Amino acid sequence: MRVLVVEDDPAVAEPLVAGLARHGFEVSTCAYAMQVVPAVQEQDPYVVVLDLGLPDGDGLDVLRQIRRFSDVPVIILTARGDEMDRVIGLELGSDDYVVKPFSVRELAARIRAISRRRQVAPGSNTDRVVVDRGRHEVTVDGALIDLTAKEFALLSVLAEEPGRVFSRQELFSRVWDPVWTGTGKTLDVHIASLRRKLGDNDLIETVRGVGYRMVEQ
Ligand code: CA
Repeated sequence: MRVLVVEDDPAVAEPLVAGLARHGFEVSTCAYAMQVVPAVQEQDPYVVVLDLGLPDGDGLDVLRQIRRFSDVPVIILTARGDEMDRVIGLELGSDDYVVKPFSVRELAARIRAISRRRQVAPGSNTDRVVVDRGRHEVTVDGALIDLTAKEFALLSVLAEEPGRVFSRQELFSRVWDPVWTGTGKTLDVHIASLRRKLGDNDLIETVRGVGYRMVEQ
């Protein structure tokens, strides 16, 4: 598994390269923004670890350039507090980020997590929908989708136990109001909206007369 590390600071890059090699990765490096696109094209890395502050350019521009021709997973390295960079990075198609200072172990775990998400058997639903409650993010097939707070809450409940049918009453009381009013039209509207945003009507099944369930992934 080749990892391309883009980092100009030797104090960060050197331990990172050594550490990733210890975790079993094959590592190559770039220190300049201008080297990255040719390196991705030539080496076809499994994952790119991308520092945003490079001497000859902005890592976010590099990410934009990579996305024009490749969907290689990109993990960005950001400084603590640079929340805007992380948000823009995710919007531009980065897959994850780590905040400096970070441990190599943490980064290696993130790379493995990406690799698990990518190991999807064709035609199966394995990990197609990933709900990250900590970050309040949902990805479908690796792509971030934009949900309202209620849609996120509803999907989080359904995703707790794929395959289990949640009654309309339970969903309504957990997401909206503990007092079940017995109508729940709002629930159906939100389910319809979720299905549309997930891009696949079959991910959430209607169980007639009972409620809804998420298909087992
Ligand atoms: Ca830097």
